[in-house]
Amino acid sequence: MQIIYSIIIILLLSGCQSTSKDPIIEVPENTAEYLYNIQINGFQIINETVRNGQNVGEILNQHNISFVDIDKVARLSKKVFDLRDVKAGGEYTLMFKDSATIKPSYFIYEINKVDFLVTKLEDSIQVYLDKKDVTIKEKTGSGIINSSLWFAMEESNLSAKLVNILADEIYPWTIDFFRLNSGDKFKVIYDAKYVNDEFIGVGKVHAALFHSNNEDYYAIAFNELGGFEDYFDENGNNLRKFFLKAPVSFTRISSRFTKKRKHPVTGRWKGHFGTDFAAPIGTPIYSTADGQVIEASYTKYNGYYVKIRHNSTYTTQYLHMDKSSKKLWSKKGIKKGKHVRQGVDIIGYVGRSGQATGPHVCYRFWKNGKQVDPFKTKLPEATPVNKSKRMEFEKRKKIWLEKLATINYPNEYFDADSIEAVTLQF
Ligand SMILES: [Zn+2]
Repeated sequence: MQIIYSIIIILLLSGCQSTSKDPIIEVPENTAEYLYNIQINGFQIINETVRNGQNVGEILNQHNISFVDIDKVARLSKKVFDLRDVKAGGEYTLMFKDSATIKPSYFIYEINKVDFLVTKLEDSIQVYLDKKDVTIKEKTGSGIINSSLWFAMEESNLSAKLVNILADEIYPWTIDFFRLNSGDKFKVIYDAKYVNDEFIGVGKVHAALFHSNNEDYYAIAFNELGGFEDYFDENGNNLRKFFLKAPVSFTRISSRFTKKRKHPVTGRWKGHFGTDFAAPIGTPIYSTADGQVIEASYTKYNGYYVKIRHNSTYTTQYLHMDKSSKKLWSKKGIKKGKHVRQGVDIIGYVGRSGQATGPHVCYRFWKNGKQVDPFKTKLPEATPVNKSKRMEFEKRKKIWLEKLATINYPNEYFDADSIEAVTLQF
């Protein structure tokens, strides 16, 4: 009910506005044209941006959709997308069946570059999610690092994103990214994702070579566990340790282990004894090592969480899970005493339960009863490529190493005063 109330209140405050400034695109009738997987021949299309403080109810009402229908849209969308997540600056499209109609037949909101929400406003109202086609192209890149500028470029563009994958997902235990030297360099083979020829992000990294402190560190993606793809060096040694690098396939590390930080909710300064991995709601969470569940429960601050004992030395905990994890727990018997396998058994789903600002897993790690940062702790080794998979690994390795050898490093004589810390070649 909350959604409907907020829509009506804002409508009353802002009243009706003229929409005469809307840019209108007329679609010719001859060939079948599709937009958002809807055939749009003869349609009039309006592309607009959500303004500050504007919500879906207001937009629809401006276009002559009745309150009764807006109410239906609000109720139907609850199952697929929370309309309160429609953001100012977000793009939406209105489709009018022909120029004579005063009411749009469709309202489409772009949730991100791939996913969109479709609201069909004619006949019986329908609300559903759909996706644009994503094309994947294999690309290569290389870079040289000027360590003094490492932090300055971390936020920026594609190069930063790739370097973050190298730092957070592939080499977090192999290379200390806070102690790189000027002149350290890397090569990488990765998937680039495109929607309608527009680059939208980096996908999987297949192989990499990082040259740091005069040593070469190879990383070759290989599916050893049958659930998670790991990275191995040229000798088949696992680059991760006894523990997985992360309990989820994550978007980014939103907060690292620290002795002192400002709490995002309370505003108070205190230590953060965990690593936060941001990931969309519903992303599966895995135990980072084999172990036995000692708690699967709920508290006000932790939300839904699971705690796992791996051996007499190590224990891990996973916080802020989605409420849907409860169903999984009862279905899969995730409770005290249950044995779970590293990277294979799902122990919950990413959520924002308890004291959490956004969807993420707070991953906590104990060694001998003391909370520590797993990225800065000496951990036991993981096993190398299994004998039964060795032939397959060697074949894959050969392909990737040959490809890596064909990539050149960018100009190695870089200007120390240059603001471009990493140069990538595409
Ligand atoms: Zn946390």
